[in-house]
Amino acid sequence: MTSPKTEIKTTTCYMCACRCGIRVHLRDGKLRYIDGNPEHPINRGVICAKGSSGIMKQYSPARLTRPLKRREGAERGAGEFVEIAWDEAFDILTQRLAKIRATDPKKFALFTGRDQMQALTGLFARQFGTPNYAAHGGFCSVNMAAGMIYSIGGSFWEFGGPDLERAKLFVMIGTAEDHHSNPLKIEISKFKRRGGRFVSVNPVRTGYSAIADEWVPIRPGTDGALLLAIVHEIIALGLYDRDFLVRYTNAGQLVNLDEAADDYGLLVRGTAAPEENPEYAHNQLWWDRHSAAPVRTHSEGADPHLLGSFRLPDGRSVKPAFQLLEERVKDYTAEWAEGVTGVPAATIRRLAQEMGIVARDQKIELPIAWTDCWGKEHETVTGNPVAFHAMRGLAAHSNGFQTIRALAILMTLLGTIDRPGGFRHKAPFPRAIPPAAKPPRGPEAVKPDTPLGGLALGWPASPEDLFVDAAGEPVRIDKGFSWEYPLSVHGLMHSVITNAVNEDPYRIDTLMIFMANMAWNSTMNTLEVRRMLNARADDGEYKIPFLVVCDSFQSEMTAFADLVLPDTTYLERHDVMSMLDRPISEFDGPVDSVRVPVIAPPAGCKPFQDVLIELASRLKLPAFTDAEGGRRYRDYPEFILRYETEPGSGIGFLAGWRGKGGEKFMHGEPNPRQWEMYAQNNCVFHHRLPPSYQYMRNWNKGYMEWAQRARIRRFGDPIILQIYSEVLQKFRLAADGKWGRRRPPERLRSRIRTYFDPLPFYYEPLERQATDGTRYPLAAVTQRPMAMYHAWDSQNAWLRQIHAHNHLYVSPRTAAAQGIGDGDWIWVESPWGRVRCIAKYSEAVEPGTVWTWNAIGKQPGAWQLGAGANEGRKGFLLNHLISDTLRSPEGGEISNSDPITGQAGWYDVRVRIYKAATDEPHETWPRFEALVRYPGMAEVVPETIAYDASGGKR
Ligand code: SF4
Repeated sequence: MTSPKTEIKTTTCYMCACRCGIRVHLRDGKLRYIDGNPEHPINRGVICAKGSSGIMKQYSPARLTRPLKRREGAERGAGEFVEIAWDEAFDILTQRLAKIRATDPKKFALFTGRDQMQALTGLFARQFGTPNYAAHGGFCSVNMAAGMIYSIGGSFWEFGGPDLERAKLFVMIGTAEDHHSNPLKIEISKFKRRGGRFVSVNPVRTGYSAIADEWVPIRPGTDGALLLAIVHEIIALGLYDRDFLVRYTNAGQLVNLDEAADDYGLLVRGTAAPEENPEYAHNQLWWDRHSAAPVRTHSEGADPHLLGSFRLPDGRSVKPAFQLLEERVKDYTAEWAEGVTGVPAATIRRLAQEMGIVARDQKIELPIAWTDCWGKEHETVTGNPVAFHAMRGLAAHSNGFQTIRALAILMTLLGTIDRPGGFRHKAPFPRAIPPAAKPPRGPEAVKPDTPLGGLALGWPASPEDLFVDAAGEPVRIDKGFSWEYPLSVHGLMHSVITNAVNEDPYRIDTLMIFMANMAWNSTMNTLEVRRMLNARADDGEYKIPFLVVCDSFQSEMTAFADLVLPDTTYLERHDVMSMLDRPISEFDGPVDSVRVPVIAPPAGCKPFQDVLIELASRLKLPAFTDAEGGRRYRDYPEFILRYETEPGSGIGFLAGWRGKGGEKFMHGEPNPRQWEMYAQNNCVFHHRLPPSYQYMRNWNKGYMEWAQRARIRRFGDPIILQIYSEVLQKFRLAADGKWGRRRPPERLRSRIRTYFDPLPFYYEPLERQATDGTRYPLAAVTQRPMAMYHAWDSQNAWLRQIHAHNHLYVSPRTAAAQGIGDGDWIWVESPWGRVRCIAKYSEAVEPGTVWTWNAIGKQPGAWQLGAGANEGRKGFLLNHLISDTLRSPEGGEISNSDPITGQAGWYDVRVRIYKAATDEPHETWPRFEALVRYPGMAEVVPETIAYDASGGKR
């Protein structure tokens, strides 16, 4: 008997979005088990329950294995399909898309979920010529990205994070219980062992909050009030880092307060401006304490007033930005914030003092010499060791952008940006404020048979960068970059279906969805969206005439498709976590990584990347076509090897092992052996910057020069932190008929004036303002559990043993007041609908909040679960209670989103709870028909489900 052949292959996990390194163990070519790769920089060998359960994803009976076409006459949603060949699928798509591209490319919309290939999907959309492209960011945490990047040039998670190696105090706000899972768990564990103090602010005490030294329960959507009160205290106590504010922020820069002027509220500028960066002039003025006169910012020997009121020689009244901030937070006292947040005023004061004192009195000095962008040499790098981490709990509210601005400003006042023990950037951040990439400026950017004239997603610096027509109305189907959501840097995926069906602003033809369960947990107002997916126009045609869904597994969404394209799993394909997208960079330098196939996919599956390359080649999109009009790339792996952003630029999707023999990095000629070199190096390329380039990167001359050589930055000018946001003020001025040429439509002017405040302010989330708080007194929120990444693991036999149904967690006090016992069936009702579910007592929730896990409840039969499975019987979906639109105070309906960024207001809904009647069935409501099995899907074989890592069958 021959002994079995065992192999270990390394690749990158994708059981969640953290991108840990894994080792996949195979015996005779069959997957046996998965463990963490000890040599991988992200997880250093650690693996979580999800990561090690990847094996059951491979054996899932919900796996799609053939392209499928909706059966003639079958209704969308019924899941009735016929199997077709890939050639037929490509023919259908090519014919349809070629016609759209030759007539009106915006009638094709491509929206993707939590994929990690946005550099490719974005390139495809742009080359096709459609502006209607975005990924999941708009319904996830775009407020976090935009609020931070428009303030400090970087953001949390993929773009930066807390330096827990040196922090003394760590404050986590509004973060799901295992966000940034293994990497953050590893860091928190070391931080706590070293004696660091960990404070978690969250309505729910689970996961990270459960191991915090102090849990600060807070009412959802009120974090902005807490942060502004802390800013108030820090300023009142003088605990801000004055030197940091003067040199590295616009705190000392003078703001024009002449209300009659066209540049009212903008920073005053000197005349001469010999600028390195034409997009960002550095000629603002300070009021110098020595000369008692205005001087150009950063003038040698000058020291600006941060407080005070001054008059320029020409008579204009001015104040430093910091003075305006101080005035802004004057009334945001701890007592006021207690009434809003439920956090006692004494706690707010104590936290503010602790932050300020740790930052001031426990400074770190690292013996690292560096030179700043103004040429001043520093012998050390200083750290004020207070670190923060925040995410969707802050972001997913319609007041989230201004809340996150408040957080960024608090971090700035404490002097913690890109310093040891504080927040640190990850390459390619910091970026300019705002980054240089811009959306197109008008409908003329969309032309038949032509790539889009600009990037589908970008960073507007003023109203001039909006993507609107001559009447100021949106060009994109999701209304991104319009006056409704000017800074919607990640698009508004949650509005696509509603807008397309309402033909507002126009009708589209084909909607392609990749990896997003828009008919279930990735959509607000699920029942209505499912109805809309089936809605027909007067001519009998579907209002969204053609719906393509690409995924690896059967789901509630695939059931609505006209065409289903079966994707591969993460263990079967090549993938790139690119510097052009969201790499896995570390604080010490750029890191990108790949996935390589470790097992073969089923014959009928195709990686979505290959699908895009094939379609792009058939449609002859310029970047995918050679000079003779032929196909340029055979497949995705070849595309990655040979593609360059411009001919000869030397910049491609991968930064490592470039150049003919792999001797270059960041840029260099294509290397035919690049994949092989990544595979030999744990699928990771990691470049460590010299220590003098690892800190203070917004203003670090050496780093800036390196970043220019590496082509990460075009200009080497300093990135000044924006305590006061001129970008926002320019929108306000436009609403007042000033600044630039563009004006918002009349109906949106007061909205722009109200929300585009250059200083952070607190307002109640829009939905809450419109809801009767007496009838609906409770906030309802969700979070994803540690053991499942949203809906991805609904079919995972091992993980289903941890979560097969969800409860609504309620404080015993709140429940008892309604006569609800632990485990009772109850109704949860919002102004938009009601859901029946099981209540569970929990002391770990703020009494005015109820919460549940996201995406555990399922449509019966979906994900190939048995029709009677607990997920469909006892599990429930809170999304039924959340509306995607609100009544606009200006009339009509408006998206339930942040008015600045379009971020979906997931966590703004208000509910009431009451006991279900004793004669009601003990099962969830609303009920749905059970989904059927599609052609090509495996029947559920109990032996396969029971297959385990020990090598036997139970
Ligand atoms: S945290 Fe777990 S699931 Fe996520 S990438 Fe790492 S091992 Fe995989």
